[in-house]
Amino acid sequence: MTATQTTGTSVRRAGGAATGPGAVPDALPAHGLFIGGEFRAPVDTASGEVLDVVDPCTEQVVARIPAGSADDVDLAVRAAQEASPAWAALVPRERSGVLLRAADRIGEHAELFVRLEASNTGKPLAVARDDVESTIDTFRFMAGALRAPTSQAAGTYAQGHLSVILREPLGVVGVVTPWNYPLLMAAWKIAPILAAGNTMVLKPSEQTPLTTLKLAEVLADVLPPGVLNVVAGYGPVVGARLAEHPDVAMISLTGSVRSGRAVARGASETLKRVHLELGGKAPVVVFEDADLAAAAAGVRAAGFWNSGQECGAGCRVLVHESVAERFVTLLAEQVSTLVVGEPGAGDDVEVGPLVSRDHYRRVLGYLERAAAEGIRAAVGGGPLDSPGFFVAPTVLVDVPEGAECAREEIFGPVVTVETFADEEEAVRRANDVPYGLSGSVWTDDARRSHAVASRIDAGTVWVNCHLVLATEVPWGGFKGSGYGRDLSLYALDDYSRTKHVMHNLPA
Ligand code: NAD
Repeated sequence: MTATQTTGTSVRRAGGAATGPGAVPDALPAHGLFIGGEFRAPVDTASGEVLDVVDPCTEQVVARIPAGSADDVDLAVRAAQEASPAWAALVPRERSGVLLRAADRIGEHAELFVRLEASNTGKPLAVARDDVESTIDTFRFMAGALRAPTSQAAGTYAQGHLSVILREPLGVVGVVTPWNYPLLMAAWKIAPILAAGNTMVLKPSEQTPLTTLKLAEVLADVLPPGVLNVVAGYGPVVGARLAEHPDVAMISLTGSVRSGRAVARGASETLKRVHLELGGKAPVVVFEDADLAAAAAGVRAAGFWNSGQECGAGCRVLVHESVAERFVTLLAEQVSTLVVGEPGAGDDVEVGPLVSRDHYRRVLGYLERAAAEGIRAAVGGGPLDSPGFFVAPTVLVDVPEGAECAREEIFGPVVTVETFADEEEAVRRANDVPYGLSGSVWTDDARRSHAVASRIDAGTVWVNCHLVLATEVPWGGFKGSGYGRDLSLYALDDYSRTKHVMHNLPA
């Protein structure tokens, strides 16, 4: 099948049920800039630059948000600087209390966030609900974690001297977030950055600014003015200014490798800290002794969650050659049962559209080139009916080593299957991509589960599961997937600086 043909799977439509932001009363934020505790128009109103926000199920523009400029970033950074001393001076109990109130407030508006996120990204309601629950949990965890700091004990490490280790905020942190989990990725930054006593300026993706702006709105009377500022706009304008701004102490970006490189370059002039959560191409290594049905079900869940627009997606299966045929049959059965549709079409919809026309074309391009290389789709393989950017859940099989579809991040509902002959080859090929974010090992052999997991070059390795996250444990990559950690106490460390104060003790 080529990518120009539509597949047999159909898109379940919402019918009469309105799903767009217009269906959510008072859901749309007023403006693209939230600075110093209030929404405001861009400095340069004459430019008329706007972000067209598109519903990917209908391809209709559902909102137009004024885009910010470098001048707006400068204003926001100033507001964050002004708010910084008072926020940093709060004792942990006080700062924790604010973050807990923020969690409560998000919870009060949970359903609104779910519907707004689903309408901007097209993601199924189940995914959007999970995003909102995880958002709230991230605020709660960081509120607790900041009250129990861990570090080296104060003590005498040089004769006659007392060393005290202080953990300090960095100042103003700049943040740039992607479109795949707009609210959740914002929360993964906001909660630890504020918990550590910093103030911040956040730029959401130009494609999905709605829930981040809504978050600023609902937290406007919870957070002191200037602590959280949001400037919507384009990456090379707003993001780039944040990266190079002399008064921004650190830039933290979740996004593609290309954008990661751009902010790292921009940050180099001022030598600011850089925190990068970039792409992934997670291997799923299935050994001959694994529970194959469980592995197939695991890939169904982890390869297609959020339509595969997931940096940790289990998208590159490496299966032992002796069980490959059986595994592919099981996986094809599993994937062909996925329910594709609009978020408003029911709670059981599992796969939505891709986020934008550009991204849809990009994913179809991978499928077309794979087909041209002779790679077979056991399930799916092309677009689904329009309107909307729907692509059929796809399993590409008999994929040769080094094929483009198995090396590059497709970021869509596409899983590739390759085979290997022995453990050595499995490890070598699992690591043979530029990324190192996550991966999984499926086996019933205890020795192998540890030996292979420890040799996979990735920040997270799952054994007999994939894409299970918890706020207490770190998330982040190696190699081309970037550096720095989200979630957990490690994120608090990343957004803090360590100071050693040494006292000369009188004899
Ligand atoms: P993207 O890189 O296109 O955009 C991400 C953000 O970077 C956007 O806000 C964009 O405006 C901004 N940006 C673009 N160019 C910039 C520049 N020159 N300077 C500063 N900012 C710039 O990525 P995307 O398409 O929105 O998201 C998908 C990517 O994000 C995938 O590669 C995915 O793997 C990655 N991702 C990683 C994680 C993780 O935790 N590692 C999580 C989610 C997404």
